[in-house]
Amino acid sequence: MIPVDFDYVRPTDLAVAGAILVEAAPGAVAVLAGGQSLMTELKLRTRRPQLVLDIGGIDALRTIEQVGDTLRIGAMVSQADLARHPVVQDRLPMLIEVAAVAADPMVRRRGTLLGAICQADPTGDWVAACLVLDAVVELRRGDVLREVAMQDFVTGARETGLQPGEIATALRIALPVTGAGSAYRKVRHTAIGWSIAGLAAMVEIDPSGRCADCRLAASGALTHPQRLTALEDRLRGLALHDTPTLAQVIGAAMSDLVFQDDRHASAEHRGVRLSVLLQRTLADLAG
Ligand SMILES: Cc1cc2nc3c(=O)[nH]c(=O)nc-3n(C[C@H](O)[C@H](O)[C@H](O)COP(=O)(O)OP(=O)(O)OC[C@H]3O[C@@H](n4cnc5c(N)ncnc54)[C@H](O)[C@@H]3O)c2cc1C
Repeated sequence: MIPVDFDYVRPTDLAVAGAILVEAAPGAVAVLAGGQSLMTELKLRTRRPQLVLDIGGIDALRTIEQVGDTLRIGAMVSQADLARHPVVQDRLPMLIEVAAVAADPMVRRRGTLLGAICQADPTGDWVAACLVLDAVVELRRGDVLREVAMQDFVTGARETGLQPGEIATALRIALPVTGAGSAYRKVRHTAIGWSIAGLAAMVEIDPSGRCADCRLAASGALTHPQRLTALEDRLRGLALHDTPTLAQVIGAAMSDLVFQDDRHASAEHRGVRLSVLLQRTLADLAG
């Protein structure tokens, strides 16, 4: 399909882009980053902006900086460049695992991390990983800056805390403590490759082999990527290599969740897949 007519601007200055957004009526402007989701929405005419604001010309948004134990990833950093970055390779292996299973090389070359977060797709692998990494989204409206924790930013399927006139400028991730194990695994839909059930996990094991702390998030299985906080609470203090108890705890937590049910997979199928992913991944991380 062909999109409806729209105007197009590609500023090179963040302040100019910010001013355009602040002055526009809500919904009139669509921010274009890598375009991997937005272009489809324009073509399907589910988005009909008067103006497409391409932020690809703003060099200030293309940087990845390490400040102490925090990595700050600019809004125009592609998923491919992110996965190649030495600090990510060294300290954030979960993001490398996501890059290995999310989309394809062409999408990852153009698609940005922030674009995936702002899109907040229910199947979003990057969203689930950033939830577990306790990332923080930096937002700007004109000259006003604010930051929002990932858990508060992604509020539903394709719903975020992005306010009218705001642009996401960067994502900050506190580099995990050494000793914490992490993994990202997913069960793909055979035809489309999207997640039927995905799991981001980060686990710290104490010297006695029990779970000292853990953070878990699911993609694809629930209405939108979410932290599994009730299960995290039940797992703290538990010996994760105790397979029968682990299975019981996971089974009990699964019955409290509401799984997606659609033409790609039933709720029951997604529940079983997530449960198996949890058992295998937690047992591996405990080992
Ligand atoms: C074929 C294909 C397969 C895919 N498979 C997967 C997969 O397996 N797993 C997965 O997780 N994802 C998958 N995706 C989704 C992909 O990750 C996203 O399309 C991509 O990351 C979006 O980033 P982008 O830079 O292209 O954003 P765009 O498409 O440019 O923007 C996406 C949305 O975010 C908004 N936006 C973007 N940047 C900002 C910003 N800085 N501030 C404010 N708003 C902003 C845009 O206005 C738009 O609404 C797939 C996509 C395709 C096309």
